[in-house]
Amino acid sequence: MSVMVDIRSVHKSFGPLDVLKGIDLQVRAGEVTVVLGPSGSGKSTLLRTINHLEKVDRGAISVDGDLIGYRRSGDKLYELPEREVLKQRTRIGFVFQNFNLFPHLTVLENLVEAPVAALKRPREQAEATARRLLERVGLGDRADAWPRQLSGGQQQRVAIARALALEPKLLLFDEPTSALDPELVGEVLDVIKDLAHQGITMIVVTHEIGFAREVADTVVFMDDGRIVEQGPPAEVLDRPRHERTRAFLSKVL
Ligand code: ADP
Ligand code: MG
Repeated sequence: MSVMVDIRSVHKSFGPLDVLKGIDLQVRAGEVTVVLGPSGSGKSTLLRTINHLEKVDRGAISVDGDLIGYRRSGDKLYELPEREVLKQRTRIGFVFQNFNLFPHLTVLENLVEAPVAALKRPREQAEATARRLLERVGLGDRADAWPRQLSGGQQQRVAIARALALEPKLLLFDEPTSALDPELVGEVLDVIKDLAHQGITMIVVTHEIGFAREVADTVVFMDDGRIVEQGPPAEVLDRPRHERTRAFLSKVL
């Protein structure tokens, strides 16, 4: 299978704080990678570098063969202009912990806005796609609602549908259920599972070990800016080789 995400020797610091200390990770097309790790280990920063919301200090990231944020010429890298970065970013869906829906737009308009503005899709086509996606996440009847009228679980399902509206080749999830009341976690995980089974490539940062066990092709455990171990869930979750992985799992399981 082809490599969808190729992360090579990525380093990232914030001032004196080294947050990513040499990350190498490959994600194959159609696979689900779950990233686990303690708070502060660099998980969000890693996701944010993949769509160039954070610039890397060293190393490089490619998504579907495109170098993110840069153009290579010989052995030199040139930064892409913002407009090109935005174009790359439209094909990488990002779902945040706090949904981040546009509060002043209806549910439907949340899904229509970017395809019309960024991809220049005809409005009617964007609306038809939006309605189909809302059906897919079980919210076909809430197209005209405002985000504030929805539960957290419903808002997050809208956020997932909104990400899908740009036909991403890659979906990134940053703790998509951490802000939800426990009884709403399942409905969001079910939508993500459904997408996984349809072969969308995704990287999911989560503490939901059951989800990782069931859905992940690869589980990655990060600690202190490094990938400590990675492998199939049955290995990393049930037979972790590193003490730090064991210690983490004993806390979250
Ligand atoms: P995680 O998602 O695993 O909890 P983060 O990637 O959010 O970890 O953060 C890793 C470390 O980087 C933390 O110590 C955090 O405070 C720091 N950090 C993250 N973003 C910034 C930023 N923009 N400026 C300064 N420090 C940051
Ligand atoms: Mg985080």
